[in-house]
Amino acid sequence: MPASDIEWTAMDAPILIDGQTHFDADHARVVTNPAHHKEVVGRRAVGTGGYAHAAVEAATSAYERWSALSAAERAQMMLAAAVAIEAGNGDRARLLTREHGKPLSEAAHDVGGAPKILRYYAGLADRFDTPDVTEDDLGRIVRLLRPMGPTAVIAPWNAPVYLSYLMIAPALLAGNTIVIKPPSYTPLAVTDTLLELDRHLPSGVINVVPGSGPEVGAALVRHPSVRNIRFTGSTETGKQLMRDAADSVKNIGLELGGNDPAVILEGSTINDQLISEFVRGVYAGTGQICYNIKRIYVHRSMYEDFVDQFTEAVDQIVIGDGLSSDVTMGPLNNEAQFKFVDALVDRTRSSGATVATLGRRHDPTTWDDGWFIQPSVVTGLAQGAELVECEQFGPVIPIIPFNEESEAIAFANQSEFGLAASVWDDDVDHAFDIARQIEAGTVFINVHRVGASDVSMEFGGFKQSGLGRGHGWVAVEENSELQVLAHRPGWVEATGHH
Ligand code: NAD
Repeated sequence: MPASDIEWTAMDAPILIDGQTHFDADHARVVTNPAHHKEVVGRRAVGTGGYAHAAVEAATSAYERWSALSAAERAQMMLAAAVAIEAGNGDRARLLTREHGKPLSEAAHDVGGAPKILRYYAGLADRFDTPDVTEDDLGRIVRLLRPMGPTAVIAPWNAPVYLSYLMIAPALLAGNTIVIKPPSYTPLAVTDTLLELDRHLPSGVINVVPGSGPEVGAALVRHPSVRNIRFTGSTETGKQLMRDAADSVKNIGLELGGNDPAVILEGSTINDQLISEFVRGVYAGTGQICYNIKRIYVHRSMYEDFVDQFTEAVDQIVIGDGLSSDVTMGPLNNEAQFKFVDALVDRTRSSGATVATLGRRHDPTTWDDGWFIQPSVVTGLAQGAELVECEQFGPVIPIIPFNEESEAIAFANQSEFGLAASVWDDDVDHAFDIARQIEAGTVFINVHRVGASDVSMEFGGFKQSGLGRGHGWVAVEENSELQVLAHRPGWVEATGHH
């Protein structure tokens, strides 16, 4: 393994293995600013299968010591790391805006996830350390949680810090050691937090290998010593991971894609509050959030009113560099996403739908220097159209009328995805009744946007949106083996003569 650890700065993402950084400046890849293609924000080390293997070895050696600590001891270190990470988050939010494109307030929420999530899971230490003991005439049964082993964490580019910590923190609390592959488009801010985290943990507990998914990610997933895989990303990649993990029957958690429906029932009042919730729910992150609203179904009696008010509000969006305080929507993150969304909008228009292109360009003179796209609102589409069925992951939204509630429920459920959804009605009890009939891991009532699913609220998908659940206590259980210790003299005695 070459170890030329030269010339890297806080703007770069090195490899971290067993407390040592590695950065080969000659072979590093540049990370560019999606708001100004030609601006280099930093560089990421190019990890290889060899580095992935070395990182798993480090995580395997560190495992014995880390897993032998109590969760309370691990939590103390996680809390110390949270304080240190928080202190650097102002600069990191700016770095994240520059590598990702999202407005500074959204980037601050993303990097703020690291200390917040570490603290939340540190708070669950006592629960982890307290076994469940039952004693009766038959004997004693002790149920305890034990860590699984070296854990591979693979994260997407859209909310790199928040999503990485949702996977890392419960795994660490449970006593697992980590090798994480950060996303290739947005590796910088998250790696910077991980270097800080490493300073507060024993060496080898957290290892970082930036690099390509098919090379570094796949090497981690296939490695025989890795016992647990935590993945957030697309459904296509998730399927590949399941295949790769099958050979050694690894534990696997998948948070995958979504095509979230929002259903506005007849009893809803269309007012500024509701419209503003929808604008945020659809366009936050430039539409690149797993649980953005991706299809809107509106009762026919209020369809035109909703479309008019919503279109007017979307037209107020200001698109530009997320570092400008008056910008409300950044560019798409990368060229591939830009080309996909741009072509999807073109095909939708050619199919005969009405596409309203909205919003204001903050700086028309530099528009073509970034992966900018104006938000659009699409009407005149039927259920089954491409834009309604696919995960657009961009700022374009179809709005479809319905007549009966049963029809809206059927439309909402006609999808291979089932991540989140929302039901909107002034009668909240009625909204709950409808929500129960929707096939999605989370169904929000009268809200549907980032932050609405708190770290304490279980999250995950039905159908092809994922396997298992993140957030909350359940994520600790999903990173643990449940072990049962049983002493049953009463039972032996009762059955011994048979
Ligand atoms: P992606 O699947 O392309 O990549 C995710 C990660 O997997 C990246 O780090 C990538 O390098 C890695 N990877 C790619 N091929 C791999 C392989 N063969 N083996 C191992 N790793 C591999 O997804 P993306 O484009 O980065 O993210 C967008 C997608 O993520 C969307 O579909 C979105 O809905 C989904 N997402 C889901 C959630 C959730 O909580 N359910 C949250 C955020 C994003």
